[in-house]
Amino acid sequence: MSDSHRGSCLCGAVRFRTDGALRGVVYCHCSQCRKQSGHFYAATNVANADIVIEGTESITWYEASAFAKRGFCKACGSVLFWKPRDQDYISVMAGSFDKPTSLEGECHIFVGDKGDYYSIDDTLPQFEKSTPSIPVAE
Ligand SMILES: [Zn+2]
Ligand SMILES: [Zn+2]
Repeated sequence: MSDSHRGSCLCGAVRFRTDGALRGVVYCHCSQCRKQSGHFYAATNVANADIVIEGTESITWYEASAFAKRGFCKACGSVLFWKPRDQDYISVMAGSFDKPTSLEGECHIFVGDKGDYYSIDDTLPQFEKSTPSIPVAE
């Protein structure tokens, strides 16, 4: 594959490979993403058909809402995936990819719910909640 990317959790128990171009990175500032990650989410999206995940037995899926579940490594705790229930894609944390990632920032969502200890200083678009093209659990 010409545009293949690899990534893993911190301990390497969970590894993945994606094929094809990756969507720009969406930064989600909602309270769920902040609580789970310790800051805010930075994730790309991959079609289910374009990702192969190894070590799935090491993933714990947390049913964060009726809409989506959040996957992390049960050994090292790395936050890896956000998977909507009825969609054909999976969100993958940008920081879990090995360099070079080819990833670039796309936008900020749920900025109305962001933490009060940082500011958003780049020029990317900001959305109060989600955008029509990016379904995200509230
Ligand atoms: Zn791990
Ligand atoms: Zn979020």
